[in-house]
Formats: sequence, structure tokens, C-alpha cells
Amino acid sequence: MKRVLSTNKQLKQMRVGAGMALRDFLPAASRAKLSVPRALLPWWGDLNIGGIVSVAGHGSGQGAPVEVCEIVTSITWVDASGTVRTSDSTTEEWRALCGGIGLLGIITEVTFQLTDSTNTQISTRIQVSDANLASDLNDELISKAITLYWRPDFGVYTAHLQTDAPSGKDKSLNITKGARGVIVPQLDPDANARKTQGAGLKAVSTIPFFELPYDNGESLVCQSAIGITTTPWAQVSTFPPKTKGKRAVDIFDGRVVTNDVQTFVCSNNKVELCSFSNPELDATNSDTEMAVEKARIPELIADVKKLIAVDLRGYGNVPDGSKRCLPPGYFNFRFTNPSKTLIGPGAGLAQPVHAELTVIYSRSIPGRPFRYEWVQEIFEQLLLCKYNGRPRSVLHSYAAPSVGL
Ligand SMILES: Cc1cc2nc3c(=O)[nH]c(=O)nc-3n(C[C@H](O)[C@H](O)[C@H](O)COP(=O)(O)OP(=O)(O)OC[C@H]3O[C@@H](n4cnc5c(N)ncnc54)[C@H](O)[C@@H]3O)c2cc1C
Repeated sequence: MKRVLSTNKQLKQMRVGAGMALRDFLPAASRAKLSVPRALLPWWGDLNIGGIVSVAGHGSGQGAPVEVCEIVTSITWVDASGTVRTSDSTTEEWRALCGGIGLLGIITEVTFQLTDSTNTQISTRIQVSDANLASDLNDELISKAITLYWRPDFGVYTAHLQTDAPSGKDKSLNITKGARGVIVPQLDPDANARKTQGAGLKAVSTIPFFELPYDNGESLVCQSAIGITTTPWAQVSTFPPKTKGKRAVDIFDGRVVTNDVQTFVCSNNKVELCSFSNPELDATNSDTEMAVEKARIPELIADVKKLIAVDLRGYGNVPDGSKRCLPPGYFNFRFTNPSKTLIGPGAGLAQPVHAELTVIYSRSIPGRPFRYEWVQEIFEQLLLCKYNGRPRSVLHSYAAPSVGL
């Protein structure tokens, strides 16, 4: 269940066990000189093939394939009577299995349609004013495998873009070898830098909303939050070197091997670098994601701006009360194609956009709302009730046992 079962080099297809983790699948594809289409896979390397197929996991970028099911050519599964069956992508069973959260049966094997090895061009628009965000999100931009991190409370967004780069290994192509995906914010591999960064993140994410008066220290909290929040970060970097004191290098612009940067992993040299897995930080993520129609994104952006303006308004002439902001985290938009699945998140939508709000907060305040948690709750209600949002069949729980949570 956890390995590659066969590779058809002529058809560029791989049949893999449903229990295989993405972090093992990607190097296996590279060894077979095959690529997963860029920006297609869900972002965490510890997710399993069976899980991401069952929820119709996705990356971002309209036009090219970016929903996992778009490259699933057939599924082998066990039905309720114990019969082993194989359904290809032309069948009704396939439509019910891909994105079907396991309701039809147990998936045991998946065949993926891959491509020859490819390279990817990374580029980043860092901390752009969100004044024209709705019109900035034009067709050209969203075809570039965009992941958009937005902080309406700071009035900025950062767009991480991926496009095709020439394939091959020639030196003249300037491919950075050994690159990797990074989840933002990620802690620094250097212990000292991590200490400072972690302390800031912890301080901001531990404040429950009723323990600090709103008119006290708010600007300070905001300033700390912007420094450690997501918009200034790269989404791709070199792998942290083993040499003590050496740092990974951010790649805001550059060329990389496509398979290298499809996912991130949290552990490096036995140190947990993800905000949600690092034991010293003791943080977790609260996440809301729903798929909505792209045509309604300008209206949704206007609603979120209004929500922030009204619900996080400052305090006029109260000293230090001019600004309020959410804890570390981000609003995020990802764009996919019409889905062939029966009940996957993008099903039934002409141009699905996955709108998300992720908030990082401390696990040291269990059962108590994080600061301004109501903003996330209103966002959820908005998506569901006003925008007919299709909730993810399985939320990003950030509670996987493999990271010790
Ligand atoms: C840190 C993190 C980052 C993420 N990033 C993304 C992202 O970028 N894009 C995205 O789309 N999603 C993302 N997700 C969500 C992720 O795709 C889903 O949570 C997915 O279900 C996780 O896979 P899993 O192997 O943990 O599945 P599980 O949580 O184990 O299972 C999910 C569902 O599928 C069913 N299932 C699992 N395996 C099988 C099987 N073999 N046969 C039948 N049914 C099965 C389960 O019963 C369950 O209903 C992320 C999640 C996390 C935790």
C-alpha cells in the first residue's frame, strides 16, 4: 500500500499504493524521470495518496491540471461486499470515488497520468497594495499557478506564481538543485534565529481575545504580527544545509525542478520547522476553506475588506488604538478547473476558487477563542450563506499524529 506498484514509461503513468505519502511519491516519480504537473498537489508532503484522492485535493492555477483527480486515470478499490474493482476515469464509480471521502469503498491503488520531467519558473509579487486586488486577479495572473496570501488588515497581498520553465538539466538553464516547498511561516533551521522568531510568534498567538484590553498595545501586537506573518515569505527555498549556522536561501525568483517544490515537509535534521508541529512553539492552525465561483470573487474581496474595516476598526483618539489586526495567518485564494467529481469541493462550479482563512494560534489556550476569532466565524458564514460555498469534505485539521499533535 505504501509503494510504487508499476511504472509505464511509454504512457508516463505510475500505479501507486493508496498508503504512500507524497514525500515518498515525488522522489519516486523523479527517479522514473516523470513529473507531476506543477502546483497540482496539496501542500504537505505527509499527506497520503488515498486521502488526497478521496478529498479531491488541489493546488492552484486555472488552465493546467491542478486538482489531483485531473491526473487520476484509474482507481482500484474494494466495495462493501469485499469485491476488488478497478474503475477508470470514464466511469460513474470513478466520479464517486475521486473526491468521495471514502463513501463508496476503500481505495487501494491509484494510477496517475504524469508527464516527462519538467522544470518550473518561480516568481513572486511581494507585499503589493490590495487597493486593486479584485482587478489584479485577471485571467493571466490566475493561470500562473498562483497562491495568493492576503492580509486585508495590513492592506497587502503576496502572490506566489509558477509557470513552465524549459525542461532539461543543462547548466545554462540555471536550475537550482535541491529546492523545496515551504509552508509559511516556517521557522528558521538556525536555532538562534528560530528562538527569536518563535518567541515573537508565540507571544502574538497566545493572546486570547479577552485578556488584553483592546485599547492597549494593539499597534505593537500588529507590528509584531506583520513581521512574522505570511506576506513577506518565500514559498520555495533551498533545503536547509546540515552545516551549523548555514541558512536556507529563499527563492522568490528562479528555476527549480517541478517535483522538488510540490510539497513541504516539517522535519529537518530532527527539528520541526512548521509553526503547527514545532513543540517549543506549541501552536496550531484554525482553518476555514470553501470553494466559490470565481465570478463572485470581486464581491467577496469587497465583503472581506468591509468585515475587517468594521470589525477590526481602531479606537479613534485612544492612544495606541488606531489599528487592530488578526493573529499570524492569511486569507488565501487558489484557483482550479471545473471538477469531474460528483461531490468534490469544486463539483458543480464553473470556475472554482478555494477561499481560505488560516489563523495560527497557541495551543496553550485550549477551548478559548483566539484573538478576534469572530472574524473567522463571520468569514465562514459569509462563504456558506452568501456565496453558496462548498465546504472542503475534510478540513485542514493540522492535527496529524505524524507530527505529534
Ligand atoms: C498541513 C496540511 C496541509 C494541507 N494542504 C492542502 C492543500 O494544499 N490542498 C488541499 O487540497 N488539501 C490540503 N490539505 C487537506 C488534505 O488534502 C486532506 O486533509 C486530506 O484528506 C489529507 O489526506 P490524509 O491522507 O491525511 O487523509 P485522511 O484524513 O486520512 O482521510 C481523508 C478522508 O478520505 C478518506 N480516505 C482516506 N484514505 C482512503 C482510502 N484509501 N480509501 C477510501 N477513503 C479514504 C477518509 O475516510 C477521510 O474521509 C492539507 C492538510 C494538512 C493537514
